[in-house]
Amino acid sequence: MSDHHDHDHDDWPYPHPKQPDLEDGPLTHHMAMAEAVAELLIDKGIFTADDMRRTLEVIDSKSPAEGARMIARAWVDPEFKARMLEDVNVAAEELGIDAGTIPIRAVENTKDIHNVIVCTLCSCYPRYLIGLPPDWYKSRAYRSRVVKEPRAVLAEFGTEIADDVQVRVHDSTAELRYMVLPMRPEGTEGLGEEALAELVTRDSMIGTTQIKS
Ligand code: FE
Repeated sequence: MSDHHDHDHDDWPYPHPKQPDLEDGPLTHHMAMAEAVAELLIDKGIFTADDMRRTLEVIDSKSPAEGARMIARAWVDPEFKARMLEDVNVAAEELGIDAGTIPIRAVENTKDIHNVIVCTLCSCYPRYLIGLPPDWYKSRAYRSRVVKEPRAVLAEFGTEIADDVQVRVHDSTAELRYMVLPMRPEGTEGLGEEALAELVTRDSMIGTTQIKS
């Protein structure tokens, strides 16, 4: 056979690596638990399968754009910023954004303080406002290292924090999720709210990057 392909897989005739299906591995304890609890709640009529699907659809529809819209408003409107720092979920409603019922707290970056968020236990994240977390946010490496050596972790994201700037790490939980209110970059005085929102990235709201103009 002259067919050349540069990796070989037993009984796998296609020229790309085999990706295992989700069902190929055993369920973890928590996966089995989640399935069992969902099944029970549906069986007992607490909610329907359709309710659950709809809720998942709402969560999946969230994106960093909604958080970015809030940040841009906070940059141009100090009173809105104060309300956002007081209560993100309530302030979100002013912009017609449903940030869900789990409290989200915004932590503000200043020239003296840089904030970064993590969930050391699992993957708590303000999903209802800024969408699903990136895979690395859920990795053991990020979760364990960012609390111990935040500056080193930030440097790996290309984010150098000056020595005279304090780095604060905030550990999210099931009851309280954090988001970073990044600093408005210099040279953006002439920009309108929409253009400002476009500068705001997902990672800047996690705190692993700063916004550059
Ligand atoms: Fe968590």
